[in-house]
Amino acid sequence: MEVRNLFRENIRNLAPYSTARDEYQGELGIYLDANENPYENGYNRYPDPHQRELKRRLSEVKGIDPSRIFIGNGSDEAIDLIYRVFCEPRIHNVVSIAPSYGMYSVAAATNDVEFRPVQLNENFELSAADILSAADENTRAVFLCSPNNPSGNLLDAGQVREILDRFPGIVVVDEAYIDFADSPGLLPLLNDYPRLIVLQTLSKAWGMAGLRLGLAFADPEIVATMSQVKYPYNINGITQRIVLDQLADPQKVSEEVAEIDRERERLLPALEALPLIRKVFPTDANFVLVRVDDPRGVYNTLINEGVIVRDRSRIKGCEGCLRITIGTPAENRKLMEILKEL
Ligand SMILES: *Cc1c(COP(=O)(O)O)cnc(C)c1O
Repeated sequence: MEVRNLFRENIRNLAPYSTARDEYQGELGIYLDANENPYENGYNRYPDPHQRELKRRLSEVKGIDPSRIFIGNGSDEAIDLIYRVFCEPRIHNVVSIAPSYGMYSVAAATNDVEFRPVQLNENFELSAADILSAADENTRAVFLCSPNNPSGNLLDAGQVREILDRFPGIVVVDEAYIDFADSPGLLPLLNDYPRLIVLQTLSKAWGMAGLRLGLAFADPEIVATMSQVKYPYNINGITQRIVLDQLADPQKVSEEVAEIDRERERLLPALEALPLIRKVFPTDANFVLVRVDDPRGVYNTLINEGVIVRDRSRIKGCEGCLRITIGTPAENRKLMEILKEL
């Protein structure tokens, strides 16, 4: 199906809101157009609603044309907008893998869209056939996550390709953790699949969770439509400025990611060796899912020592499992000391 025909009818017919800053794009001048306080303090002016400079820089970093980049207030904004743009409440549905990131189902519920979770197998592997058979003519989108949270594994590229080839709606692949994986991810496929949306974020490897900046890479028509629906000034001026500063030095981030990857390769066998741990699931992310006999007990012991991990044991498919983020070498040593005592 043409991307255009996948948009909700009200969205297709939308007349965009034009901000004061849309009409004049120069840098210098006397701004008497937006009712701002004219006395400069570093943030008295409205920010660029189109984040032009930021998109130019991200385009260089990612090798993707700016017309294919949507910037959101965290990936969570992009996830919500995907529902608002493509899914008619109470009519359309979305299919997603399970277990996976909680926001896909939260955003489905708040938008009154039916959510159809499809369980991964016991090794958290994707079956394209299962996803396709859960979809029907009212399925507007499929949500995938690779590397998947909370399991940590990359999804099989062949199975993802099969879904892209055979499912006629929007395919969202959330790559929040792709920088930790030994894989280029799906950005190279964007040109071939106009219905593919790749989500990434500056919250994990890039070290900017507190700034709230998420990215959606997609067909220019999808990016333009999501931009029309977002709040005009969704990325505040301070965030735009700090992110531009941080992106000037990507070397620092790659060194941190390399260190985290090295720590992961050390931590995994050390965890395997503990009698307490029944299974360490393979991971391509900056966290690891482990199965223990008494997840609540281990969780509480760690808490008492000041170490907080995520208890995922009540999630279907994750019975007995804790999710542990890879920390600094000192933090990981502390974790191992506590677990060895148990
Ligand atoms: C952490 C995470 C995100 C990030 O969300 P932001 O709103 O960008 O901070 C997105 N997807 C997954 C799967 C995550 O685990």
